[in-house]
Amino acid sequence: MGDIPSGEELRKNLFNLKENGWEKSTAEQREKMFAFADEYMYFLNRAKTEREAVKISKEILDKNGFKSICEYENLKAGDRVYYINRDKSIYIAVVGEEKIENGINIIGAHIDSPRLDLKPNPLYEDTGFAFLKTHYYGGIKKYQWTAIPLAIHGVIVKTNGEKIEVNIGEDEADPIFTITDLLPHLAQDQMDKKLKEAISGEDLNVLIGSIPYQDENVQEKVKLNILNILNKKYGIVEADFLSSELEIVPAFNSRSLGFDRSMVAGYGQDDRVCAFTSLRAILNIEKPKNTAVCILSDKEEIGSMGNTGMESRVFDTFVSELLNKTGENRANLLEKVFCNSRMLSADVDAGLDPNYSSVSEKNNSAYLGRGIGLNKYTGARGKSGASDANAEYVAEIRKIFEENNIRYQISELGKVDVGGGGTIAYILANKGVDVIDCGVPVLSMHAPFEVTSKFDIYEAYRGYEAFWK
Ligand code: MN
Ligand code: MN
Repeated sequence: MGDIPSGEELRKNLFNLKENGWEKSTAEQREKMFAFADEYMYFLNRAKTEREAVKISKEILDKNGFKSICEYENLKAGDRVYYINRDKSIYIAVVGEEKIENGINIIGAHIDSPRLDLKPNPLYEDTGFAFLKTHYYGGIKKYQWTAIPLAIHGVIVKTNGEKIEVNIGEDEADPIFTITDLLPHLAQDQMDKKLKEAISGEDLNVLIGSIPYQDENVQEKVKLNILNILNKKYGIVEADFLSSELEIVPAFNSRSLGFDRSMVAGYGQDDRVCAFTSLRAILNIEKPKNTAVCILSDKEEIGSMGNTGMESRVFDTFVSELLNKTGENRANLLEKVFCNSRMLSADVDAGLDPNYSSVSEKNNSAYLGRGIGLNKYTGARGKSGASDANAEYVAEIRKIFEENNIRYQISELGKVDVGGGGTIAYILANKGVDVIDCGVPVLSMHAPFEVTSKFDIYEAYRGYEAFWK
């Protein structure tokens, strides 16, 4: 009878114990996590748009021995290459020892985030103020964008091809912009409205000035004064807004959150937290068995369409170029490559928020501080639209994480029938790739200030590295 194990022993062996990752972390590990988070926040503050994320990623890659694939005639194992697609998305590869035909290991994140884009004809004057009209990009709660400091980032391209880069509102010496909200004293009607109707899309007008041009005989004096300032600063006229991509983003920087500094609060963590961790991880990959590929994609927040989104064939062309330059290519080989490949769709997961726990099912939620979050499937209402990873593949990924002591959790996005979401996973899965969603849990997702755990950020970095190795 001495062989009967204690309940506690059995529990340890049989239960899937979901422990807080901080509990058993050593001082040395914490130091590494905190240092890594500092590096991440530095990136976040300088990459508030997809174009800025590409620019900074290129700088990091260039410093670490990566070159444009266009510079290579032939590729061999260990070569480090990237392809920049129209300054808004980037594909990175470290060529492996195995033939590409036998499959590549892909990690794909996105670098666009919810924001407000300027309309093509944005500038107008109303009652002594100048404003810019916006059209929001991605899934936002509109009320969150009022009464906060805003910056303008982007490009204006003139008809002669000259490209003017705009970044105003970030430097301490810069002015900032804002969208006003109604004072509570007069907001009775607004407060009675549904939250989603209280601020309408057409109310999201950015306040940019109030001094009139000093000429009694001219109309729209405030607008004229602003255009005069813009003309002097950037050399543009009103029509140049027609060929611009100007994005309104929060003007504040990311910060450590909490007395214990355990979390990161900042704009654009969906999905730059996965973009940065995967980018950092691929720097550590020297000569992998299978070719390691990292995708930093654009347009995920509005459906991955367009020639910089994941639905475009530009990524296929990049893989074809890898096949061409390693000398492997032959008819229809690309399809075979995809069928032999594996992918982590590196996108953020909804973390359980105790203030809103009613939308989560606690056994199947991701928790901040419990490691990288995997979603076997996303979708909504009967898994609709999900690619649903195969059990065999989930087991492979579990094995990699368990062997490398990476903390992970497998969850769903919210309760059944409450809502749902999607990522770029299905796009690659449709090509034949084995794909699972795998990213960092976030609170306040899509808000101007999102929250992540430094523990999970570090586990994502380690997990992505282990996947490629
Ligand atoms: Mn995302
Ligand atoms: Mn998103």
